[in-house]
Amino acid sequence: MTTTRRLSLLTPSGRLTLGNLLGALRPMAAAQDGADCFYGISDLHALTTPRAPDTLRAAVREQATLLLAAGLDRSTLFVQSQVPAHAQLGYLLECVATTGELGRMIQFKEKARQGASVRASLFTYPVLMAADILLYRTEQVPVGDDQRQHVELARDLALRFNGTYGPVFTVPEVTVPPAGARVMDLADPARKMSKSGADAGVIALLDPPDVVRRKVARAVTDSDTGAGAVRRDRDAKPGVTNLLEILEACGGSADGITTYGALKKAVTDAVVAELEPLQQRYAELSADPAHVAAVYAEGARRCREVTEPVLAAAQAAVGLG
Ligand code: AMP
Repeated sequence: MTTTRRLSLLTPSGRLTLGNLLGALRPMAAAQDGADCFYGISDLHALTTPRAPDTLRAAVREQATLLLAAGLDRSTLFVQSQVPAHAQLGYLLECVATTGELGRMIQFKEKARQGASVRASLFTYPVLMAADILLYRTEQVPVGDDQRQHVELARDLALRFNGTYGPVFTVPEVTVPPAGARVMDLADPARKMSKSGADAGVIALLDPPDVVRRKVARAVTDSDTGAGAVRRDRDAKPGVTNLLEILEACGGSADGITTYGALKKAVTDAVVAELEPLQQRYAELSADPAHVAAVYAEGARRCREVTEPVLAAAQAAVGLG
């Protein structure tokens, strides 16, 4: 029996949130059983938008420690820039990708619309993402709708490369991930809670209990306070529905709760209890940075071992070396 290989990368473009925990880190931890998981920090992708070097370095260090604190200790953990094959294969794939297809990427079009001039890497990053996927011979890539087009590009590039130069890459399939938690912004429940969102509506994984309490206390509910006000209704009561879903995802229950005040107290208690062991483990790991560095050094070593033959096959196929 072959073990399933799983690959997932998180970009250090801000502080990890409760949404990242419930929607990504928790399922990633659960997936470790019976699978060979590669979980990476995509620091190269973070460079597609301007950020100060010290900010990026701090975000990578914090995220590296948080992945371990979240229990991903039975996986190969790595930082993308420490595995040179990602950037090297990215370049080879840029030589089979076309400007036309990259210009059609919805995320590029949306981001480019916001500013007059953007980094060239924002245009080419879906190709680097294709390299991330193809280097690990990933067969199935479970992604949400926002990343679907990028994985389809990885498929197209793999097929085109194989057709032009010979069968080097495994062609990945896009699969639908199991329905996971979708945590909305507390201050603006029409938006997903995001690393780049305004601070008031976003619970960061390292927020101390009093900050969690303050943010939940200010969460948007609505003006309807009569009997039955605390109920799920995504269209009419998005803020209340979000709080109820966070409560349940954090192991709490809304049984007997009839007021927004009681709901917010229960949500605060459940979130604080969910974050407490993670924050404690984070503090322990932060006190031992050499251990964290050793875990990532070993992860990068294993990634190099897995990716170098794939890169070498691609280089030989195009006529390099
Ligand atoms: P992002 O932070 O958008 O780069 O996403 C990294 C991972 O976290 C992806 O697997 C997302 O689906 C997941 N994620 C991010 N924000 C949320 C959220 N608010 N609710 C649920 N999952 C999320």
